[in-house]
Amino acid sequence: MKRPAVFFDRDNTLIANDGYLGDASQVQLIAGAADAVARVRALGYATVIVSNQSGVGRGLFDEDAVRAVNARMDALLLAQNPAAKIDRHEFCPFYPEAVIEKYRQDSPLRKPKPGMILAAAEAMALDLSRSWSIGDAPRDIAAGKAAGCRTILFRAPGLPPSQAVKGDESSVPNYTVSTLGEAVEYIARVAVEAVQKVAIAKPQAGRGDAKLESIAEQILIELRRKNHSEADDFSVSKLLAGVVQVLVLATLLLGYFQSRGDVAWLQVYVLVAMTLQTMTIALLIMSRQK
Ligand SMILES: [Mg+2]
Repeated sequence: MKRPAVFFDRDNTLIANDGYLGDASQVQLIAGAADAVARVRALGYATVIVSNQSGVGRGLFDEDAVRAVNARMDALLLAQNPAAKIDRHEFCPFYPEAVIEKYRQDSPLRKPKPGMILAAAEAMALDLSRSWSIGDAPRDIAAGKAAGCRTILFRAPGLPPSQAVKGDESSVPNYTVSTLGEAVEYIARVAVEAVQKVAIAKPQAGRGDAKLESIAEQILIELRRKNHSEADDFSVSKLLAGVVQVLVLATLLLGYFQSRGDVAWLQVYVLVAMTLQTMTIALLIMSRQK
């Protein structure tokens, strides 16, 4: 079964950076970042960073500098909370107006496009429908939505808005928070509600199944009872018919030996035998009609 993930934006979501950061020594965690990462991991979510790093394309720093910042962030997270592990980093160095030619492109990886999320999902076998995108910018919301995730907009009151916040405001998040702790609370709440829905739905389905099973069982009991009844009636009728048939023969033999030539007595025996024979026939007819 595929697991869900939380796709965190990096700058001004997990670390304080409203511009371009290529110096690992300047990395500062946002309050609550380590606990948020640890808690979503504890809830069963993979933790993935998806970050536009156009500073590379703009020639401000290179890809190794991005990796160094990421490594420093990872180390600080783990130092604050040993369970705050980032499972994967994705970043996009491309930018349409990049000064460095090899980075000058409208990349499908660059948010608000969902390329980084899709790449991570492919690499890690993630269930995007149960995943979340958290970031401080509308493009984080747009990218998450485009990938099929639910989204949380993180607007920390004490932090200056990143450049991207001035972008497309049309991307409406599922939820907006002012702390990362609130974001995790919301994710946990939605997860619990989803489990409760399943828990409620299952017994209902169970009741339906039980009702069908009960109906089927009743039908089986009725069929068994009917077959049993028919078998009983058939046996009793047959038995009675057999007994009466024996009586018929016995009466005829008795009449033959007892009448001793007396026709009147013989007629009485024959009459009794005929009556009994009629009863035999009647019993056989009755057994067949049931
Ligand atoms: Mg950001």
